[in-house]
Amino acid sequence: MHDVAVIGAGPAGMMAAICASSRSLQTILIEKNRQPGRKLLLTGKGRCNLTNFCTVEEMLAQVITNPKFLTNCFYRFSSRDTFIFFTELGIDLKVERGNRVFPVSDKAREIVDSLHRQIRESGIEIRKGKVKSIRRIYPDFTLTLENNSTMQVKNIILATGGKSYSATGSDGSGYHLAGELGHNIITPKPSLVPLRSDNPWLQKLADLKLKNIAITIKTKDNKKIYSDFGELAFLTNGLAGPIILTASSFFRSVTGLELSIDLKPALNNSRLKLRLQRDISQHPRKKIGNLLQVWLPRKLIPVILHISHIPADSVSASLTGFQRVCIVNALKEFKFHLTGFGSFQEALITSGGIDVQEIEPYTMESLIVPGLYFAGEILDVDALTGGYNLQIAWSTGHAAGVSCCC
Ligand SMILES: Cc1cc2nc3c(=O)[nH]c(=O)nc-3n(C[C@H](O)[C@H](O)[C@H](O)COP(=O)(O)OP(=O)(O)OC[C@H]3O[C@@H](n4cnc5c(N)ncnc54)[C@H](O)[C@@H]3O)c2cc1C
Repeated sequence: MHDVAVIGAGPAGMMAAICASSRSLQTILIEKNRQPGRKLLLTGKGRCNLTNFCTVEEMLAQVITNPKFLTNCFYRFSSRDTFIFFTELGIDLKVERGNRVFPVSDKAREIVDSLHRQIRESGIEIRKGKVKSIRRIYPDFTLTLENNSTMQVKNIILATGGKSYSATGSDGSGYHLAGELGHNIITPKPSLVPLRSDNPWLQKLADLKLKNIAITIKTKDNKKIYSDFGELAFLTNGLAGPIILTASSFFRSVTGLELSIDLKPALNNSRLKLRLQRDISQHPRKKIGNLLQVWLPRKLIPVILHISHIPADSVSASLTGFQRVCIVNALKEFKFHLTGFGSFQEALITSGGIDVQEIEPYTMESLIVPGLYFAGEILDVDALTGGYNLQIAWSTGHAAGVSCCC
């Protein structure tokens, strides 16, 4: 009988298995895919931003859900430990903008292969199969795989990931397994995901990317609840890009909220109006559509003019004061009614998952079912982009792997 069965060979499961076996525990790693680490291969656009080289406090500041729960395991296995761990596996690492850590090769494959090699060299058995049920028959567990084969193990580490990018294997089946053992699941929701909007202009703007813009999100009663600055992209059915993905992490629901884009955040309304007036007086005969070409990407010009109720072929000098104000307002508050989140298929991570109130934060052991441990995205923890989510996988995987005992 194995001492430990780790279910799921993503980053959290692989780290947990390596740590458990380093303590001479007979370890088996069960993975439904033929190869481990399919999602890991996609990370960082195939380059794998495996951690962020920052202090534990800085790391915790980037965790959106349940940072306090992660404090212990981040101290036990920090981003510095991740750096050393992979360096010892023979990977050369580099630190890029924003302290993001990547392999020098820029290949996620190198990270996956190094973990796989370490697993083989540690004598960890890898079994291909999907676990469909776990039963607690004291003092052991009985696992049943999809082909109805069963096995008995002393401890289980559940590291089956969330629900996003399900083609990589994380189809949410781990929630069901944990739920059957009595665990409470905080409803999973797509996170680091585009936001949907029914704004009709999106059809015309799709694929356009904007830099150096500001966004504000307001409630129905016009209360400002969120703002950010950076890059975004238009989709046919919503908004994407870095500042939108980040915004998606801060809300359990966005339906009914209004997002407005400030296309000229460096200038306030009165300075923008003065700038427009100056340009008009320098080029009075130019059509307003042509005049705005120095201000805006081509695709946006007819949209801004339409919102301002101004024909694109109007001669600039003919614009009334009111029309100029309308242009300024459209540039400062380009509004999008939000209708929801993108799908799990588009989401980089899942927020929600196993309720951490039922887990011991030092060991990752269940407070309900002794001998059951959790690691990685299956937990109700999530962070922003920058290598923090993989650090959660390494740190929680490490905590579970070094803690499970027989
Ligand atoms: C496109 C993309 C890019 C990303 N880039 C980054 C990045 O650069 N940096 C970063 O920090 N984070 C990134 N992330 C997030 C990061 O990949 C995840 O947070 C991380 O993979 C979670 O690790 P995990 O081991 O918990 O789960 P997963 O990686 O999802 O692994 C879970 C494993 O469990 C297996 N499994 C599931 N159910 C069962 C079952 N019932 N039986 C057997 N096996 C099962 C699955 O097949 C899978 O292999 C990215 C995510 C995506 C989708």
